[in-house]
Amino acid sequence: MDLHNPKSGVCLPISDLPRVVVIGAGFGGINFIKKIRNKPVQIILIDKNNFHQFQPLLYQVAIAGLEPDSIVTPIRKLFHGYNNFNFRMAEVIEIDHSNNKVITNIGWVQYDYLVIATGSVSNYYGLDNIEHSSVGLKDIRDSLDIRSWVLQNLEKAVITCDDIEKDALTNFVIVGGGPAGVELAGALAEFKKYLLHKDYPELAKDWMRIYLIEAADRLLNVMSPKSSNHALKVLQKLDVTILLNTAVKDYDGHTVLLADSETLKARSLIWTAGVKGYFPKGIPDNIVVRGSRLKVDEYNKVQGLDNVYAIGDVAAQVSEDLPRGHPLLAPVAIQQGDQLGENIMSLIKDGKYKKPFIYKDKGSMATIGKNSAVVEVGKKQLSGWLAWVMWSTVHLFSITGFKNRLIVGVNWMIRYINYEKANRLIIRPFEPDENVLEKQDNLKRKAMDNSALVAKSC
Ligand SMILES: Cc1cc2nc3c(=O)[nH]c(=O)nc-3n(C[C@H](O)[C@H](O)[C@H](O)COP(=O)(O)OP(=O)(O)OC[C@H]3O[C@@H](n4cnc5c(N)ncnc54)[C@H](O)[C@@H]3O)c2cc1C
Repeated sequence: MDLHNPKSGVCLPISDLPRVVVIGAGFGGINFIKKIRNKPVQIILIDKNNFHQFQPLLYQVAIAGLEPDSIVTPIRKLFHGYNNFNFRMAEVIEIDHSNNKVITNIGWVQYDYLVIATGSVSNYYGLDNIEHSSVGLKDIRDSLDIRSWVLQNLEKAVITCDDIEKDALTNFVIVGGGPAGVELAGALAEFKKYLLHKDYPELAKDWMRIYLIEAADRLLNVMSPKSSNHALKVLQKLDVTILLNTAVKDYDGHTVLLADSETLKARSLIWTAGVKGYFPKGIPDNIVVRGSRLKVDEYNKVQGLDNVYAIGDVAAQVSEDLPRGHPLLAPVAIQQGDQLGENIMSLIKDGKYKKPFIYKDKGSMATIGKNSAVVEVGKKQLSGWLAWVMWSTVHLFSITGFKNRLIVGVNWMIRYINYEKANRLIIRPFEPDENVLEKQDNLKRKAMDNSALVAKSC
């Protein structure tokens, strides 16, 4: 195989086929590639991880319900046998759209067509202290950090004779009452209800408190008030303390400061209060819309840039009906990936797109512990056990790979019978202080990048 690597270019096979470079192996990127993998194009997929992750079940890894391996799939395995497919594990740092190049930490890559599918990151709304001292729930590393953090704090609570510290160690604060926060709170509450007394008989049940804090006046505010009320009742029954109309202003690793100047002592805070689109440097500011997303047209082409497309969480298809674009959901990314695959192939073959993207809304759902969920499809709403069965079935069949589906299914069956969570292991201890330093470094780097950009534009 002929390989091309002039100086700093990434080593890649030489090909006469049009080169399609995809950044991001999430739902959007993977589904886009599935559409074009057997077509006459050279595909280069770049991702900073060598795996694709199933984000909807991250919370189950965080609360020791599933092993991480069961919700991630190696990217290379997904595309075995396709000669036109090339994966390079790298982080894209910049898009040089005037020269049709992406700059990565391992060199640059030239493209004929570029698809940005970089997803989103936690949004801390400029609350730097919270960003330093909390953990988000955005990828598998976050899940493992949360798992270790929860278990470590319980271990520390058993050791200390200082009741004030014991209280802070056993207070678990989740900020954000959207689906991720609700699901996490439900799972943590069940951990407390069914396992705390068995694993930590030294800790009376009252020691562990779970707080779910939401700035809006109801939980799940992307769903109907009926679903919100159901979630509220189920979580209250599970003994979760829910604070609505309450914004979190600050957190230093010890004290949570609320908007009304009330404080709460807690040694852990999990942030699920929002996400924003993420993309590498080099994109003109006028293309970036609210929520840090890239403005795309009905064919997912990034406004004003030649041969550059964006799909999934990072893309905003803004219209009169949808002033903020489509919701940041897996089905949007999947459907956009599929449609863009067809459109790019049609463009290469016939010089025109096949059809504009139209989102088929399949509804929304969230689970609140075992046996309870809320499901909304169109105007139909369902809650309780049947909704939970629907939630479980949809999620089980959406997981990538037969083996993963089987492992998750068996795990769920065992847990349905006896509530056992087999993975209560601190394999990779989480050091919040080290995390703080790492995050401070990242912030410093971000600040330097920003000032470099400002300097450049001056
Ligand atoms: C906790 C949680 C629960 C969720 N639950 C649901 C749910 O129940 N139902 C639902 O529909 N949606 C859910 N979502 C939302 C859903 O997961 C996202 O909408 C979906 O993943 C978006 O897909 P994407 O392809 O745009 O991005 P992602 O799936 O996030 O993929 C982005 C990819 O880009 C890579 N990447 C990013 N930057 C770079 C870079 N600079 N260089 C190289 N690679 C890069 C990342 O490593 C990643 O692989 C949930 C999300 C979270 C976080």
